[in-house]
Parts: sequence; C-alpha cells; structure tokens
Amino acid sequence: MELYEYNLHDLLEKLNSKEISSKEIFESCKKRIDSCEDKIHAFITRTEDFAKSQLEENENPAGIFAGVPTVIKDNLCTKGIKTTAASKILGEWKPPYDATAWKYLREAGAVLMGKANMDEFAMGNTCGNSAFGATHNPNDISRVPGGSSGGSAAAVSAGYVPFSLGSDTGGSIRQPASYCGVYGLKPTYGMVSRYGLISYGSSLDQIGPFARTVEDLQLVMSVIAKYDPMDSSCFREKTHDFTHSENVSIKGKKIALVKEFQDFTLDAPIAEAMNKIKKILEDEGAVITEVSLPVVSRYAVACYYALAMSEAHTNLERYDGVRYGYTVNDASSLKEMFERVRSYGFGSEVKSRIIAGTCLTEPSRCEEYYVAATKVRTLIAQEFSRAFGEADFILQPVTPSMPPKIGEVDDDEMKGYEADLYTLPVNLAGLPGLSFFTGYSENLPVGLQLIGPRWSDADLLNAGVIIERHTGSPKIPDLN
Ligand code: GLN
Repeated sequence: MELYEYNLHDLLEKLNSKEISSKEIFESCKKRIDSCEDKIHAFITRTEDFAKSQLEENENPAGIFAGVPTVIKDNLCTKGIKTTAASKILGEWKPPYDATAWKYLREAGAVLMGKANMDEFAMGNTCGNSAFGATHNPNDISRVPGGSSGGSAAAVSAGYVPFSLGSDTGGSIRQPASYCGVYGLKPTYGMVSRYGLISYGSSLDQIGPFARTVEDLQLVMSVIAKYDPMDSSCFREKTHDFTHSENVSIKGKKIALVKEFQDFTLDAPIAEAMNKIKKILEDEGAVITEVSLPVVSRYAVACYYALAMSEAHTNLERYDGVRYGYTVNDASSLKEMFERVRSYGFGSEVKSRIIAGTCLTEPSRCEEYYVAATKVRTLIAQEFSRAFGEADFILQPVTPSMPPKIGEVDDDEMKGYEADLYTLPVNLAGLPGLSFFTGYSENLPVGLQLIGPRWSDADLLNAGVIIERHTGSPKIPDLN
C-alpha cells in the first residue's frame, strides 16, 4: 500500500511511532497528484512549494496533524496565497490573513497542498461554474464531482490528501461527498468559525470537512470546531467531544424518514441504498419512524434561493474593482469602471443571481419576497424542531439522482435548483448533516444523508461510525 492511500488516523499512528516521516507522506501525495491532476483538475492553485516550506521550517511540530497534507476550498483565505473563489474578479488577490478554520489546521501542523476548485462563489452543484474549468469525478472522469466543493471532494476521493475542507451553503459539502464517494459533514451553523470564508449567503454558509472515514471527520472536527472571537455567530458555551469510540450504539434511537419525500422519485441505486441503510439501522436496534415536513417539502427550494440570492447580491457588492483583485485603469468614469470590472469578472451564474437578489430585495418587492422568505425559513426551522421532538435523526437522500456526465447537465436552471431539495433545508434551519458512503453501484459511489438537531454533530458522527462498520469505507479509484 502506498502512503497516499492511508487514511488520516492510520497516517498519524505511523507518524507518531516514527515508522514514516512527514516528508515521505508529502512525496507520496505529490506523486499521486502529479500522476492524476491532468485527469481530475481538482486544484485552482497547487501549493506544494508552500507545503514543503512548512515542512522544512517544521512549522508546528507539536500539533496533532504535524506534517499531514491537506487541501482547502479556494473560498477560504490563505495568507499570502492566491485565493480566487473560482472567479476572475478576484484576479491575483492574496489575502493578508488566514481563515480561522485553516489557521486551526495549520496550528495543528497540517501542510497545504493546494486550493481546491469550486463553483464560482460557491454557486452551483457541479463544479462546472468555475472560471478555471471543470473538475472531474475520480470514480468516473466523464462525470461531475458535484459542487460547489467539487475540488475538495475529488482531492480526497482521488487519494491526493486524507482530508480536506469545503463549505456548504445549501449542500456544497454533502452533495460532492456523495458523488465522489467520501464522507462529508456540514456542521451546525456556528460550530466552525466562518472568519475568512468568502461569503455567499452568510446566514447559511458553514465550513466542514471531507475524509475517507468517519473517524477522520471526527479528528478534523476536533481541531476546527473551536470558538473564534472573530465570528460573532460562532458558538461559545458548549464544548463538543468528537473523540472516536467504537463503543457507540443507536439501540432504541428513532430514525425518521420524511413522509412527503416518499412520493418523490429517486434513481434506483439511491432507492436501494435507502432500503439497505434502513435495514442496517434496524439490525442495530434503531426504530425506523416517519416525520412530516410539509413546509420543507413544498417551499424549501424557493425559500432557499430567495434568501441565498438576496444575501449573495449584498455580499458581492464589494467586488467593484477598487478594493480587491481585477481592475481596469483606463475607464473614463467610475460607472464605466464598475461596469467593465463586473462584466468581465463575474461568470453568468453569479451575474444572474446578483440580478435576482437585487430584484428580490428591491424596496417595492422586499416584503413580498425577501421578508416572506425569512418567515418561511422560521416555519421550516419550527417544523424541524417538532420533527426532532419525535425522532433523533432523519435519514434521507443527498440527491435524487446519480452524478451526471460533464456537459450533459440539464440547461434548465430550475431543475438544477430543485435537485438541492434534500440538502438545502438543513442550512435554512442551521442543522448538521452527514453525507455518508453506502457502497457502489456499477463503480459509482452512492451516498445518503443523516440529519440531526442543532449541536448533535458528535452524535451524528457516532451514528456514522456504526453505519460504516456495515458498509466499509470507500476505495481510492485506480486512475493510472
Ligand atoms: N447548489 C446550491 C447553490 O447553488 C448550494 C451551493 C452551496 O452549498 N454552496 O446555491
């Protein structure tokens, strides 16, 4: 077995016993990246030189991840390293500070191999909205890896690194995790600091990890889920214990299916996976029940896109050619400068969302659309609160269908938006969601999702540990 194939936990064991060195891990991962990146295109920027300097300087030798390579999504700020959010508008911008989640990893000794490709400003679900070209799914390079954190998911799936970070505003960790056959956690809103995350929809955005085992997600969460005074929405009081234990049980726990979702069609492998996981949970002593989420099933998609676009149009106002990145020097007026910078700098999906967000929040329509959506959001959160009075977790798909081929993605935007039905309610209610691997169907991985009440992240991961015992962990595809 090559070193790049080891999961995080096993690498740490070998490092601690001095059986291997971080230099050897670095070389193995670099070799893997060199041999596959032409096919996968997981990176916007490769940063092996930076990783090497971190290793040479022995930056944080006492950290628990000392010398372990990682990758982070390119909407997380990295001090002195180009950060683009997959947009031309940020140009060659190099942030003057590190995002907190990356800072915590760096202090734990992790070394950065690259900035991962994504949909521009995290808007999309294929990774095809990047200004720097599409990422390919390592399990079948003719297919999309999912999005928006497609590069982060592909990097872990392809064996570039044992874990990575992404962000999830409406499914962007869980959906690519499922398409690429890795585990991904969207933490409770406020569990991980958003400081230094380039904002899309600030009330929905949350940073979280990808890994090839649940235990590795637990390890990463134990480092990044820490209070940060730089993010006022970050938790303070609670402490969360992500310690891995094999001695966990879901005996007697109620795991609900959503009544209204039963009528919606799913691709056969996903429907089969639902049955398989139900059976596993029952065999483990859980009780399968049902909850009703009528507002979620009817209004979550419209509510999410109204809010996400409204917040995005405000957040993206700051890209005007004055403060960051790309600019023009020969404009004859300020207006012309804004126009030229934004026309060139933003891609078409981002532009259409800015325009939609402007309309939704325009004073004469604001009550009818934006304010109405905030009210629906409250109803959605209440509906989930009621459901979690009746059940411990909710089991549901991540997506209704298997990953599409690159280029065959439906041009109908609404269909793309509707495909997010199973992921985005979680963000509207600020809940945690675990996307877990269930097995393969004709070499394509199939993922499902477990959702819990706010702050139940550690319990969700424990449930994941139990499921993983039955399903096994994903394999790194042979790409050579
Ligand atoms: N697909 C959703 C969107 O485009 C979610 C993206 C995300 O979670 N960043 O908004």
